[in-house]
Amino acid sequence: MRLRVAVPTPQHSGLGSPLDYRHPEGVPPGSLVRVPLGRREVLGVVWDPTDDDTEGVPPAALKPVQAALNLPPLSEEWRRLVAFTAAYYQRGLGEMAASALPAPLANLTPEQLARRLKKLRPVGAAEPASGLAPTLQADQAVAVDALKQQLVGVAPVKPSLLWGLTGSGKTEVYLQAAATALAQGRQVLVLVPEINLTPQLVARFAARFGAERVACLHSGLTPAQRLRDWLRAHLGQADVVLGTRLAVLASLPRLGLVVVDEEHDPSFKAQDGARQSARDLAVWRAARLGVPVVLGSATPSLETWHNAQSGRYQRLDLRSRIDAAPLPDVRLVDMKRLPARAGELNRASPVLAPTLQHAIEARLARGEQSLLLLNRRGYAPVLHCGQCSWRSGCPHCSAWRVFHKGDRSLRCHHCGFSERVPVACPDCGNPDIDAIGRGTERLEEQLQALLPQARIARLDADTTQRAGSLEAQLAAVHAGEVDVLVGTQMIAKGHDFRRVTLVAALSPDNLLYSSDFRAPERLFALLIQAAGRAGRAGSASGHPAEMWVQSHQVEHPLYQALKRHDYPAFAQAQLDERRSAGLPPFMHLALLRADSRDETGAQAFLMAAAAAGRALSGESDLFWYPAVPHPVAKVANQWRWQMLVEASHRGVLQRVLAQWLPALHALRPQHRSVTRWAIDVDPQAI
Ligand code: ADP
Ligand code: ZN
Ligand code: ZN
Repeated sequence: MRLRVAVPTPQHSGLGSPLDYRHPEGVPPGSLVRVPLGRREVLGVVWDPTDDDTEGVPPAALKPVQAALNLPPLSEEWRRLVAFTAAYYQRGLGEMAASALPAPLANLTPEQLARRLKKLRPVGAAEPASGLAPTLQADQAVAVDALKQQLVGVAPVKPSLLWGLTGSGKTEVYLQAAATALAQGRQVLVLVPEINLTPQLVARFAARFGAERVACLHSGLTPAQRLRDWLRAHLGQADVVLGTRLAVLASLPRLGLVVVDEEHDPSFKAQDGARQSARDLAVWRAARLGVPVVLGSATPSLETWHNAQSGRYQRLDLRSRIDAAPLPDVRLVDMKRLPARAGELNRASPVLAPTLQHAIEARLARGEQSLLLLNRRGYAPVLHCGQCSWRSGCPHCSAWRVFHKGDRSLRCHHCGFSERVPVACPDCGNPDIDAIGRGTERLEEQLQALLPQARIARLDADTTQRAGSLEAQLAAVHAGEVDVLVGTQMIAKGHDFRRVTLVAALSPDNLLYSSDFRAPERLFALLIQAAGRAGRAGSASGHPAEMWVQSHQVEHPLYQALKRHDYPAFAQAQLDERRSAGLPPFMHLALLRADSRDETGAQAFLMAAAAAGRALSGESDLFWYPAVPHPVAKVANQWRWQMLVEASHRGVLQRVLAQWLPALHALRPQHRSVTRWAIDVDPQAI
């Protein structure tokens, strides 16, 4: 018998469709099989037969399937999801299917798999669920009710936006909606941006439903753990699957409810491979399956907010925090009005405005904690020689190398190239090199000088590299061993810091003026999220919590909306801008990126690609922008270029991209210096 099998053919082969193999008696679609591919043996998924399957090479001439894994077939629903993902993001079907399966599965012999399967069923009594559900508050009850009505089929199924600040009880809504789905014998998929930053969430689901019913799927697990939890989901042994973006393609034969927490988070969009958006796929998957999906956020993405405004999504609002803690007061500090200090003109601007410093000192005196946010790690972003104007550039990238004082290195944050910091200017020998600007490491040092009595700690990618160090540092903050915590945006996420009554963003302006059109949306989300870290203890101590922002642009509408905690006004202003600028969600974008070893190769490839694309798209209303260098034009000796395609209809864009892809594969051999290229559909940043 002839079988069509989706196999992981390399992208550059241009072979995206399933390949034909033979098998003596045939196996059902969705079965996992081991098949030869070139000189390798690979794991493939038996795909659905098509009408023309009787044509072509006679079965006898085909290569044989080596073995079929003894697992239930992947469902038609799963195959449809993977096929959609591959088509929408312009990738090969086999590659997409393989990336959705846990890696170790590809290398297991049938015997090894059988042994793993035997170990799956827990022996002995399962840990009983202990958590009792609290009585819902009024807004929560409305939200849970709306979801239950969809679950039991009383209301038509429609995506829901659950809009509420941190602490407004969103997770409790997920839990109670999940309880209904579980009672119906269905599975629940919960997607979160970064699971190691939200261990509390996993713990709450485990406490409510029993740890044995919960599976986790994220990149922080060992391959063996991931295989185990993937199998538990696929076999229907786990009822709740919590995971990061990769979990959206998990096999869930009884899926009945999908939750996307912090749906605005950019990490739901993959930055490599198919560059798929797990949030968007979650919505598609739920819609095709006819099950409810809940998108939760305090600051929804503008796409989601727009869908809620237009009525395509239903909006469920949680208007107050559970503990009734008031929102923190937002204080905007106008840095333009600080007196410039003599002798400091060329140095970093003052760390803290005097008013902010006093506010932190008042917290210190009361034994409360402060969080200081600075979105730049290292000691100083660049070193500079005042005599010959040498700067610490990276020899491999168009970027500066950052000075890290801790290990006295000059390190490139793009390619990782690192050297010991020179004792004198490498060009002129001047021993007095200046550190320009400020990163978290320097901030920590300067704060220690300003607040000698304070216990200061720092949390960023440099201090949390070792396994367990993030947890240890968070535990120290929780135990009250830290007065002031300095960190990058990592500190704004997920943690429940109960004794924090002051949060300050020290120089967020640089995030406002990045070239990315989503920068304001990101900054607003970050600041609201950071503000959410403060305030739960505030009401108890009798001092309201405060969110401070140091800025040179305090009049900016973003900061003014933040001051009023007015997300809807901010979102409306942004949507108006997007509409007039022709940006998403009003237009649909795709980006073609290419890297080359020489300065011109990527650009030449993109120009040829654009010519091919224009010829294909004919009269259809598509706009091909000129190719431009990436904002960081060179990384690790690769020159990076990109080109934007814009369409007012998703369908038109999809159609043209699908025809363009083979043309790009055909062009590629003429552009030898191109090392990589990829299409990014619905890009996050342009
Ligand atoms: P969010 O997910 O929006 O941050 P949570 O669901 O985590 O909010 O709720 C914040 C806190 O309030 C949690 O400690 C949670 O256990 C508690 N909580 C949520 N809903 C209720 C309720 N109805 N009654 C009592 N406590 C609640
Ligand atoms: Zn010099
Ligand atoms: Zn570099």
